[in-house]
Amino acid sequence: MAARKDSPDDAAAFDVAVVGAGPGGYVAAIRCAQLGLRTVCIDKWTDARGRPALGGTCLNVGCIPSKALLDSSHHFHNLAHLLPTHGISVEGARVDVAAMQARKNRVVGSLGRGVAGLLKKNRVELVTGTARLTGNGAVEVAGAAPRAAPRTLRPRHVILAAGSVPSTIAAAPTDGERIVDSAGALAFEETPARLAIIGAGVIGLELGSVWNRLGSEVVLLEALEDFLPTADREVAKQALRIFRRQGLDIRLGQRVIGCEAGDEAVSVHFEDAKGAHRIEVDRLVVAVGRRPVTEGLGLEEAGIERDERGFVRVDEFGRTNRENVWAVGDCTAGPMLAHRASEDGVAVAERIAGGKSRVDHRTVPWVIYTHPEIAWVGRTGAELDEAGIAWRAGKFPFAASGRALAAGETEGFVKVVSDEETDEILGVHIFGAQASELVSEAVTAMELQASAEDLARTIHAHPTLAEGLHEAALAVDELAIHL
Ligand code: FAD
Ligand code: AMP
Repeated sequence: MAARKDSPDDAAAFDVAVVGAGPGGYVAAIRCAQLGLRTVCIDKWTDARGRPALGGTCLNVGCIPSKALLDSSHHFHNLAHLLPTHGISVEGARVDVAAMQARKNRVVGSLGRGVAGLLKKNRVELVTGTARLTGNGAVEVAGAAPRAAPRTLRPRHVILAAGSVPSTIAAAPTDGERIVDSAGALAFEETPARLAIIGAGVIGLELGSVWNRLGSEVVLLEALEDFLPTADREVAKQALRIFRRQGLDIRLGQRVIGCEAGDEAVSVHFEDAKGAHRIEVDRLVVAVGRRPVTEGLGLEEAGIERDERGFVRVDEFGRTNRENVWAVGDCTAGPMLAHRASEDGVAVAERIAGGKSRVDHRTVPWVIYTHPEIAWVGRTGAELDEAGIAWRAGKFPFAASGRALAAGETEGFVKVVSDEETDEILGVHIFGAQASELVSEAVTAMELQASAEDLARTIHAHPTLAEGLHEAALAVDELAIHL
């Protein structure tokens, strides 16, 4: 492990320069510093007032603001839909979108300051500006402030953590007003009466849920015929039914082919097997996925390869084709998730410091924060069939869980999939309240290569939703007690 250098603040003396302060970059920088590497972290993101805004997509326009609005809107929804079943009625409830947004902004601001504090505490130098690799191994930083002088750093290692941005489609160019991307949809100042969303993927469903709960009529136009194609089929089927019942008008097999934004509304043109259609809405959100940020990074000059989809190409340890240049998170291929980016960052930092870390992307949990939530880890039955692996499954519905009944959260189920021969857990699929929390136990079990029987013999507190996981593991051997 390298020792921390005592040299003065010399730009040439950095061991590591991290480009990007999202969950990949800032976590990598902190771990580098913890391991004694002299580290600089460069990020170009600034807030409306031009102040550095750390935390990348996740903190500024992704995970955190979306969850803040999902939680706020869920509270409102519960007033009308859940609380009356508990014998509580509230009259005259109304939403103040401006107050909701202000709260969200406070949460984001406070966490952003928290990241700055963590970098400082760990003695990571923070530079605000746009970084670019040069052909000779240096990193040039153009200052964010208008007259800030550019800076040239010559670190021993570079970690690229430049993240991703929303994908665009020619059929719906965003204008920041009527037609917006996910960041725009997180900042609406009032509830649109009619909202269309292109893409019924993770982001489309989360944003659709927020505005639907707050009163929008929401239509989701999805080009694919299959709903959530990477999720377990039973989960997707039940979720589609429940989300539609909640009021999300999810239309599958509808490809958006054009739109016109006027002063009052947007016309959205789409087509399916039956022909062309048109709807008129107040706002249109384009949520058709994300693409890696690679332009402006100097990748060509530095001779760094990208794959056919434009992601920075890395090996299983996060190393690019250039010695001492590494890449983590959304700018590389793999799950575009914050926790994956952070674990990549930790592993690369530890490798630079001489360790042997690596990340197993097979046990990255996936979560969709609708209500009920969808969460899973590992493979689905369909994926196992494709791989020719024989499997068994145990399923337990929350309708049979005492805690779920007490809470009034009986929708959904847990499914545990294990290897038919060895009983090793190969996948866990959850649709239900707090699935995002429940999936952690499944991730740990899979990391430890546990069998379904291991989980079935583990004592779970009663009454908890986690008992659903316990019972599903028991059900693999047809030994569930409460079914
Ligand atoms: P980013 O967070 O994108 O950070 C990259 C940083 O690099 C940015 O700050 C950028 O300014 C900076 N940068 C880029 N180029 C340069 C340069 N040349 N010089 C200096 N700085 C540069 N994931 C989850 O796990 N859970 C969720 O609930 C979740 N919800 C989401 C909701 C929405 C609406 C969106 C859009 C995304 C969500 N995600 C979620 C995905 C998550 O935000 C990303 O996977 C995560 O932010 C990736 O982290 P990263 O560090 O790789 O990149
Ligand atoms: P995700 O990648 O999970 O964010 O989901 C994005 C979704 O947008 C995918 O399911 C795509 O099929 C969908 N999509 C992409 N382009 C279009 C389009 N022109 N019309 C409708 N849906 C689209």
